[in-house]
Amino acid sequence: MIAKTTHISDSKKTLMGSLPAIRFTNAKYLFLAMANARCPKAELYIKEGDHVNSCQVIGMRHGPFFDQPIHATCSGTYVGLEKHYHRNGKLTDFIKIENDFQNTLDPSVKERTPEEIASITKEQMVQILKDCASVGLGGSSFPTYVKFQTDKPISMILVNGIECEPFITADHRLMLEFPYRVMEGIKYAMHALNCKHAKICIKSKYKDIAAVYRQVIKEYEGSGIELCLVGNYYPQGWEVEMIRNATGIQLNPGELPANRGIIDFNVSTAVGIYKAVRYNMPVIKRFITVNGNGINFPKNFRVLVGTPIKDLIPLCGGYKNPEKEKLFILGGPMMGASVPSDDCIITKTVTSIIIMDKTEYKEEPCVRCGSCVLSCPAHLEPVQIMNAVKTLDKERIKALNPLKCVECGLCTYSCTSKIQVTDYIRKAKMIAKL
Ligand code: SF4
Ligand code: SF4
Repeated sequence: MIAKTTHISDSKKTLMGSLPAIRFTNAKYLFLAMANARCPKAELYIKEGDHVNSCQVIGMRHGPFFDQPIHATCSGTYVGLEKHYHRNGKLTDFIKIENDFQNTLDPSVKERTPEEIASITKEQMVQILKDCASVGLGGSSFPTYVKFQTDKPISMILVNGIECEPFITADHRLMLEFPYRVMEGIKYAMHALNCKHAKICIKSKYKDIAAVYRQVIKEYEGSGIELCLVGNYYPQGWEVEMIRNATGIQLNPGELPANRGIIDFNVSTAVGIYKAVRYNMPVIKRFITVNGNGINFPKNFRVLVGTPIKDLIPLCGGYKNPEKEKLFILGGPMMGASVPSDDCIITKTVTSIIIMDKTEYKEEPCVRCGSCVLSCPAHLEPVQIMNAVKTLDKERIKALNPLKCVECGLCTYSCTSKIQVTDYIRKAKMIAKL
């Protein structure tokens, strides 16, 4: 049957969202990626045996469009480089720091007075966010300062607390546990951008979050910040969908929100902005969900960035059915990257690890049911793109606009023949860029 898929089963999310995050900052070793997808080169400012402070800049990543400081997330000793799996699914060099558990903060971390904060200009905000390596913490890793560099007038900030993928409740916990940090981060952003309105967007079904923010927003009367309840479907958290539902504005394909006077960022990023502005502090901790049918007790955590996933497994009661082969996904099940083992590291943008018992699905031939086409939020024709990839028809691939794909995974999820359609679209994107 032809079906449009938007409602993905996430019935257990409400329960997971009610589990307070366990604080775990006891990793013996912390690991910081030398490079990432946006900055493929890096240089180190330290040598083996050096002592480092928490939040100290210990290196610099270099990318084609920007550089990004690498901050230590604990105090301790630099041991050397070690390879582990990165969020991008690749084995990557990580800087290994042995934690001395002293939490000695770098002198660069300094609290700003309310007067200093009130006088911060947009240019100063850009520099603060650049120095603190603030990035989109919902998973995009897009540098936050670039959004603030816009020369367009901004009339609305949208804060994305929608967290629409199944299994993940990291932002849910952050919103419940740190509402004032969220509010202050938004306030600072509004001040720097001279913006009078902001909306905190959440799914309408999250009554607990709504109740907290209705109360907290009352304490910020006259701030221009309001709560915005949006749809309970996937991919409601996609920027284009969120903007459409929260403001009624439909972005054109590829159009930047700033063109319409809008800046949007994730709710974790709002807290990152708060820390950067208030304390001149980079993101050294984050909320993360460990979930899936392959783990005994799924949990939410707040951990130091750089913590190995392996350290969290025993705290979740270990693997369920350890004799069964597992599938490890960093990020959500729809858009995350699968890694071959649990030898992976929590970087700034890792929202979750999903551990599932591996099930082999046998792909059937395409039956031309059209479900993938109906379900695609970017209005593409995934089945046609797949066929063009199979025949390596580059002109046809380009004509089908695969670069508009947001890799939401719905074409695979909705496929009646269990074909990994999204993998074909990823290939098509690579071919279209050649
Ligand atoms: S992954 Fe891409 S092609 Fe597939 S449904 Fe999502 S946006 Fe459409
Ligand atoms: S790829 Fe799957 S969902 Fe798309 S038309 Fe073929 S069988 Fe249907």
